[in-house]
Amino acid sequence: MKTAIFSAHTYDKNFLQAANTNYGFQLQFYEQVLTEKTVSLAKNFDAICAFVHDELRTPVLEQLAQFGVKLITMRCAGFDNVDIAAAEKLGITVARVPAYSPYAVAEHALGLILALNRKLHRAYHRVRESNFSLDGLLGFDLQGKTVGIIGTGRIGAVLVKILLGLGCKVLAHDIQQNPVCIELGATYVELETLYKESDIVSLHCPLTADTHHLIDDTSIQQMKPGVMIINTSRGAVVDTSAAIRGLKSGQVGSLGLDVYEGEQHLFFQDLSETIIQDDMFERLITFPNVLVTAHQGFFTRDALMSIAETTLRNIEGYPADIPQQNLLTKEHCI
Ligand code: NAD
Repeated sequence: MKTAIFSAHTYDKNFLQAANTNYGFQLQFYEQVLTEKTVSLAKNFDAICAFVHDELRTPVLEQLAQFGVKLITMRCAGFDNVDIAAAEKLGITVARVPAYSPYAVAEHALGLILALNRKLHRAYHRVRESNFSLDGLLGFDLQGKTVGIIGTGRIGAVLVKILLGLGCKVLAHDIQQNPVCIELGATYVELETLYKESDIVSLHCPLTADTHHLIDDTSIQQMKPGVMIINTSRGAVVDTSAAIRGLKSGQVGSLGLDVYEGEQHLFFQDLSETIIQDDMFERLITFPNVLVTAHQGFFTRDALMSIAETTLRNIEGYPADIPQQNLLTKEHCI
């Protein structure tokens, strides 16, 4: 299968090319994000490989179908940027990498929690400037604190295990309880209870119509004053302007984001020489108690190896032998 890889960075190329020594597919790498403007690059390809910011809605899908593209293989787990029903109607198969390394993202969420709590991002800069004062760096013991996990699938379940290992009490909420989490010692509760009792709330659900702006003014008001909120799922699960209001009033004590609702215009690029036009993002990063990373939760060697291998396996399996769990069908449209 001749495959066009969109949004390709050096690391994508390196890991996919290394894995491709076992497959020998013809891979063409494009730095461009897939949009209506760039879709013409997919002409003469049988398959395309896309990532989180590639736009896979009807206009682009129609063009892809016209070019004869038969397979879209996502090199990520989330698929909120893909109109699966439209792809299905156009006869395009959509596959993904449902589980590459839940550890990568769960460990990153833990990293955000630890850094924000002990103010490591501030301590780093202080010490480099010979400021050895501890004022303003006071944290708390994680041991004994209550953490609310929303979404207890692959990533959420790993974080549940890590947090229980640190001596936290874990409250969980999901539309479908995960028996593994119950066995580990998490307690499933309604969102209202989770918000009321958690010192830290960490988001691990997909972005759907139901979870869009799940964290808004109303939910923030239900939380403990000074709550820490962590989002490594998808940006739009948090209403950023509500989070900013919460930070200004002190209701939100700290905020750790690996994802941001306007990230498609910012992340995965070096914009250090440009003037950022997103005022909401600029306001967000002025807070000393906000730590933003640019969607790097997945970014471990182990995860990239696994993503590359599964992506090529999906291409190899087309049409009849793609592992069932990797296929995205209308049932995935919540
Ligand atoms: P998963 O499908 O294994 O788990 C998601 C869980 O969320 C499921 O248990 C599901 O039932 C639950 N859920 C769905 N709707 C819900 C709702 N309305 N309320 C509460 N729970 C709900 O997925 P995963 O592999 O654990 O990944 C979770 C999310 O993390 C992905 O959807 C993706 O958006 C994000 N992600 C981010 C990165 C990153 O680099 N930051 C990497 C991978 C995945």
